Amino acid sequence: MRKISFTVGAIALLAGCGVSTQQEVQMGQQEAQQVNAQLPMVQDPVIQNYVNALGQRIARTTSRADLDWQFQVVNSDVVNAFALPGGFVYINRGVLERASNMSEVAGVLGHEIEHVVRRHSVKQMEQAQGANVGLGIACALTGICNSGLAQAAINIGGTAVFAKFSRTDEVQADEGGFRNVMRAGISPRGMYTFFQKLLAEEQNSGGGGSAAAWFADHPGTQDRIADIQRMLSQVPASQLNSLQTNDSGFATMKARLARLGPAPRAQGQ
Ligand SMILES: [Zn+2]
Repeated sequence: MRKISFTVGAIALLAGCGVSTQQEVQMGQQEAQQVNAQLPMVQDPVIQNYVNALGQRIARTTSRADLDWQFQVVNSDVVNAFALPGGFVYINRGVLERASNMSEVAGVLGHEIEHVVRRHSVKQMEQAQGANVGLGIACALTGICNSGLAQAAINIGGTAVFAKFSRTDEVQADEGGFRNVMRAGISPRGMYTFFQKLLAEEQNSGGGGSAAAWFADHPGTQDRIADIQRMLSQVPASQLNSLQTNDSGFATMKARLARLGPAPRAQGQ
């Protein structure tokens, strides 16, 4: 088994000083290059375009609409998603497979978009004290590195920084994500139904299901569902009902998804 090494020098340099948008985008681009080179992406253009268009639609409503947002689908069954600084958002195929309608995918994208809008990973870097950083890696986020084959190929060091966010960050990302999807004319109910589904799946599997990674990387799911429910109750029913829950592209995307070969499996699943 190859050892995965972190190089924290670049991060230590950044600690304590402000990170400009330009630096943030540069970091994101470097990390995205590594992620794209080392994680398997779903190659189907219909699936990629669907997710990218939906992500753009939501991201364009935010205060950081000017970023060069990019949305990609990782070929992993594990239910998870992550965002790099500067607007690079990755959603695993497992999320699309679990989703029942467009608004559920939108809820996950809206949440990841908000992490970028609020510069959560930049904030973490700025607060970082040397190597004592809550660093994760793409492997942890996707579960892919657990498979022997992928593990040999993945050695993300250097500037690759995948933040593990705090509960506060997660709640902020939910609340902002909720508003992001609503501004895009999409029902925020999908966020609620999707998290509920994951929670049920997790409880039924006794913690070992493919949604386990979601709970590890997005702490406090149960409280967060209650928080989303509270936000939902504050939106007038007439307004909720006027928002979009699904689109025709969703079914087309799902049909393409069903035709893909199996995703690389992580060990122990
Ligand atoms: Zn999150």
